[in-house]
Amino acid sequence: MRTKITSEWIDEKLKSGFLRDDLRSILTSTDDEAELLYLAARKVRDEVFGKKAFIRAVVEFANSCRCSCLYCGMRLNNPDGIRFSLDHAELCAIAQKAYDNGIRTFFLQAAESESYGAVWLRDVIADIKELGMGVLLCVGVHHESDLDLWRQAGAYKFILKHETADRELFEKMKPGFTLEDRIEWLKTLRRHGYHIGSGPLLGLPGQTIDSLVDDLFLLRDLHAEMSSVSVFLPAAGTPLEDEPTGDPELGLRFIAAMRLFLRDTLIPATSTFEKLLPNGQYRCFEAGANVITVNMTPQKLRDDYTIYSDRFYVGLEHARKTIRKAGLVETTEGELLS
Ligand code: SF4
Repeated sequence: MRTKITSEWIDEKLKSGFLRDDLRSILTSTDDEAELLYLAARKVRDEVFGKKAFIRAVVEFANSCRCSCLYCGMRLNNPDGIRFSLDHAELCAIAQKAYDNGIRTFFLQAAESESYGAVWLRDVIADIKELGMGVLLCVGVHHESDLDLWRQAGAYKFILKHETADRELFEKMKPGFTLEDRIEWLKTLRRHGYHIGSGPLLGLPGQTIDSLVDDLFLLRDLHAEMSSVSVFLPAAGTPLEDEPTGDPELGLRFIAAMRLFLRDTLIPATSTFEKLLPNGQYRCFEAGANVITVNMTPQKLRDDYTIYSDRFYVGLEHARKTIRKAGLVETTEGELLS
């Protein structure tokens, strides 16, 4: 029989530690139980990080990809995709704009390809770092030797979503790749001195509650400094285009589970929640999140970065309003972690 979740149960588990069945109970909690979990998750976040959140800026700078993930509109085998890449000067101008708006974490994101060279990216990182920004990368798997180049130029964190801890599902969703290699690459990033960020795509067809519990254990074992969950939304032109979207309410429970189980990890309120729920990102903060990402990809290009179709783009005003509505004070990443 499922455990009934009460405030006392949560307090006891925060002391004794959450086991597999406890995490399963959190993910399958009723709405009333979920409210108790969100309250406890906020309390843990505030104890660990204070009542603060920070904004980072993302620019998606290239969308050609050599991979064929079943859920992604930029996959190699999508012939309809329009391909773009931004140049060095454009990226630095966008970073300057972010800096002028008080943002101090700049997130360089691209599909996985050789369309941008390692030395070119090193020079971009160095110039953005020079502005006074922390640089975070999300560019997939490359040559191991590139990692030192980028780390020495000033990139300090690398995001690589593991997407699912279910081996079979991973290999089905990412043909030609294995979960073991993905995990090994995350460990390689760590060895090269990066903070790491990872997390699942919730709602992939065939995913189970048990595999989401495995995602939580994997994040714990990786000691991820940033743990993130996005909700699956089908992208046009992909084999999954007719599949149902993931459940954002389950996504909110997953955020609370990350906060209660992992405690001192940064958790972003991702845009898929805003796309799927009224005040979706505010609700992520209510469930324990403490980061929000503003999209600064040039407007004329961002619709071509089709990780899902018809995306919600987070603007600065929306991000600031959401932080305030959640009763949090905006800070920078450096200040939050000091
Ligand atoms: S999810 Fe990333 S690696 Fe996979 S096809 Fe899309 S851009 Fe490429």
